[in-house]
Amino acid sequence: MSNCDQFREMYEAYALGALDPPERAVLEAHLATGCAECAKSVAEARWLVSQLAYLAPEAATSDMLKGRLMQTVRSEAEAKSSSSVSTGATTTASGIPYWLSASIAALLLLTLYFAWDAHRLKDELRAANEQNQRNEQLVASAKGEFAATQQKLAAMEEQMAKMHRETAILTDPSSVKIMLAAQKIQAPQMVAMWHAKYGIVLTGQKVPMPSGNRVLQLWLIPKARGGKPMPSMTVRPDANGNFEVLVSNPPAAGSDTKALAITEEPAGGSAAPTTTPKWVGAMT
Ligand SMILES: [Zn+2]
Repeated sequence: MSNCDQFREMYEAYALGALDPPERAVLEAHLATGCAECAKSVAEARWLVSQLAYLAPEAATSDMLKGRLMQTVRSEAEAKSSSSVSTGATTTASGIPYWLSASIAALLLLTLYFAWDAHRLKDELRAANEQNQRNEQLVASAKGEFAATQQKLAAMEEQMAKMHRETAILTDPSSVKIMLAAQKIQAPQMVAMWHAKYGIVLTGQKVPMPSGNRVLQLWLIPKARGGKPMPSMTVRPDANGNFEVLVSNPPAAGSDTKALAITEEPAGGSAAPTTTPKWVGAMT
């Protein structure tokens, strides 16, 4: 019977009447199933306690061990001696000399004490472990909340930095304004503001929605002869056809750029334009 292991440290405490009521109930329920092994162990523990009761004269053991166990043993001993032969002065009831009985009593007491103490420590360890697990769960959930809040804060800070930058670009008098006129389509012109340090803000209103999941892509047309259009941000307007994008790091400086152009491209954008520009605006 493998589940007998859990009772191994309970027998002595049970015989002493020192088990907690729930533990006692579990052990007694197990004994009621007729486990011979545990019944034998309990009988041995009872024998140990009864021997102690017969052998232990109050004076010999009072100095040795103190605390709850002593009280338990004493009351056990009193109960036993009141219902059986009282101990003599030089020999015990079982006829063992006093000095020997004191030594045996001491050993028995130690045995019982260690069994009881081990049982108590095991309980304390289990309680501490459970508490530790609860604390770890609390710490883990607090850490999770902290990380989520940190993420939210970082996203807000990023959004604020973006707004600051856009505001700076749109309000700084040194920003260059570029009007992008629609080419062969009926659509309002787009407006780009280019700041030498902060980048480009491109805004569009009532822009026709690109078909499917296609996107609008911004291109920088270089001043250099034969220079190829440099790809920049892609965007899809909102349901009203409006958008505002920030290009923090344009692929070229404004002074090297001749014009801005917008083409319609597959989702994700292209490395080189695949359609003719729908909006074009020259740098002034
Ligand atoms: Zn058993």
